[in-house]
Amino acid sequence: MKRGWLMRMLGFTYNEEGLGELAGLAAALGLEAYALAVGSRDSVADYSYSVFKRIYYAPRMSTDQAFAVISDLYDKIKPDMIVAPSLKDNTTVLAMLASNKKLAMFTEAFGIVLMEGKIRAKRRVMGGRAEAYYEASTPIALTIARGYYAPPASSEKGAGLEEVKPPASKLTILSVEVKEKGSVDLESASIVVGVGRGFRRKEDLRLAEQLASLLNGVVGASRPIVADYGWLSEDRWIGISGKKIKPKIYIAIGISGAPQHMAAVMDAETIVAINKDKNAPVFQYADYGVVADLYKFVPKLIEKLREKLGGR
Ligand SMILES: Cc1cc2nc3c(=O)[nH]c(=O)nc-3n(C[C@H](O)[C@H](O)[C@H](O)COP(=O)(O)OP(=O)(O)OC[C@H]3O[C@@H](n4cnc5c(N)ncnc54)[C@H](O)[C@@H]3O)c2cc1C
Repeated sequence: MKRGWLMRMLGFTYNEEGLGELAGLAAALGLEAYALAVGSRDSVADYSYSVFKRIYYAPRMSTDQAFAVISDLYDKIKPDMIVAPSLKDNTTVLAMLASNKKLAMFTEAFGIVLMEGKIRAKRRVMGGRAEAYYEASTPIALTIARGYYAPPASSEKGAGLEEVKPPASKLTILSVEVKEKGSVDLESASIVVGVGRGFRRKEDLRLAEQLASLLNGVVGASRPIVADYGWLSEDRWIGISGKKIKPKIYIAIGISGAPQHMAAVMDAETIVAINKDKNAPVFQYADYGVVADLYKFVPKLIEKLREKLGGR
C-alpha cells in the first residue's frame, strides 16, 4: 500500500488464533506490524504470518504480566496503534495500557480507516441499532470486533519469533476448574428460539423446546431465565453478558427487548418477536411481530407447523 507515511501497529492477543485477525488488519491497512501473543513457540509459529515483522510470545501471562510486557514493547516500538481482538482479557490489558500511557481507546471497532496522525473507526451503538464513527489522534488503543478481519489471503508464514520473559505476577491463580461444556451451540445455530420472563413456569419452556425441535433449532434465554430463575444452564444465556448469536432466524418469545439482550442478536438475519405487550421494545427490532399471549399463540403455531411438516 503506497502512502507518504507508514503506520506501525503493535498487536496483542491471548489466543494464538487472534494473530490471524491482527495479520488480516495489518495486511488490509498496509501497516508495519508487530505482535505479542500468549502461547508456546510451536503454537505461535502456526500463525507467524509474514506481514508481522516480529512476534513476541510468552507461554503464559496473567493480565498484569501482559501489561508489563506490552508496556515495554510500546516504549520500544512506538506504535501508532495497539490492537487486540475483542476478548475479555485482551480488553483488560489494553485498557490498562491506554490508561497508563494516556491513550484514546475504542472497543469493538471495525471499518478502521487511517489518516495521517489519526484513525477513524466504527462501533455499534444503541444496542446495535446504529453505527457511530469515532476519530482520535494516534497513538491509540483499539479492540477489533470479532469477524471483521480475516487472516490474509496469502498464508505465507515465517515472521521472526522472540520469546519474552514477563516479570513476576502480582496475581496468584489458586485453581483452574474446567467449565462443563454445554450441549447447546447457540453461536452456530441457524434457528434460535429465545425465552424470557413471559414464561410463568419452568415446565412451560417445553413449548419453546417443541417449537425449536420442529424447526431444527435450539433454545436460548434472556438473563433472568438463566441467572435469576436457574431454569436453563448458562450456555443458553443470550446477551452482552452471555452469548452473541447470528442465526438466520431468532424468535424472541416473552422477551421485552432490553438493549443488553438485543445487542447480542442484532446479527440475526430475521428477528421474530412474540409478546403480549404491543409497546414492548422488542418490536422496534423485529422484522415480524406477533402481539399475542404466548400461551395461546405458541401452541397454535406448533400445531400448524406439525400439520405442515407432517407430524414431526
Ligand atoms: C449490566 C447488565 C447486563 C445485562 N446483561 C444481560 C444479558 O446478557 N442478557 C439479557 O437477556 N439481559 C441482560 N440484562 C438484563 C436486561 O436489562 C433485562 O432485564 C432482561 O433482558 C429482561 O429479560 P426478559 O425480557 O426475559 O424479561 P422482562 O423484561 O420482564 O420481559 C418479559 C416480557 O414478556 C412479556 N410477556 C409477559 N407475559 C407474556 C405472555 N403470556 N405472552 C407473551 N409475552 C408475555 C412482557 O410483556 C415483557 O415484555 C443485563 C442488565 C444489566 C444491567
